[in-house]
Amino acid sequence: MITHHLSDKLLMAYSTGTLPEAFNLAVATHIAMCDECRARLASFDAVGGAVLEEVSEPSVTMRADALSATLARVKAQPPVQRKVAVPPKDDVIPAPLRDYLGADGEIRWRSLGGGAKQMVLETSEHATARLLFIPAGTAVPDHTHGGLELTLVLQGAFADEHDRFGRGDVEIADEETHHQPVAEMGEDCICLAVTDAPLKFRGLIPRLAQPFLGI
Ligand code: ZN
Ligand code: ZN
Repeated sequence: MITHHLSDKLLMAYSTGTLPEAFNLAVATHIAMCDECRARLASFDAVGGAVLEEVSEPSVTMRADALSATLARVKAQPPVQRKVAVPPKDDVIPAPLRDYLGADGEIRWRSLGGGAKQMVLETSEHATARLLFIPAGTAVPDHTHGGLELTLVLQGAFADEHDRFGRGDVEIADEETHHQPVAEMGEDCICLAVTDAPLKFRGLIPRLAQPFLGI
């Protein structure tokens, strides 16, 4: 049961194709898991199409025949197909994410110390996507954010001072958010975390957790 969804702003940016690849991946992965956001995206896509037709109305700068030729060409195009497969519910890694793991589909974890692990995914610059493995009951050091952070839960759950996030839930954090996520007891937590600026860790002890400082 997903209770934390994507914002309108993110869905709109995804629909218009203006997000960096790493954020696109997080949005596509949530949409693969979430019927509600998939439906909201469809309405954003429809609005986007309508806006496109409006701006294509005849204008003084375009001859009428040129316009109709252009429109005819646009209409002849097959509709854009997005690769949004609906995965089986027990599939930890949804389809959009699988393409980033390499041919064998294995997650190549690198230790961060304390049982935590990460795999940085290869995306274009401007934002970073990583899979994080946080052992059950373990805290990520207390931090604030230099920019936008999207955290999508793929397995297990975590809680911070603000809320609880289970599988499929997405937490949207920004410069205003200061939190300390803790993986719930019972099951190790795997998340897809996307950031467009490094996190800022606070306090002395987190600073000793050097491996996290690169996140
Ligand atoms: Zn959703
Ligand atoms: Zn954070």
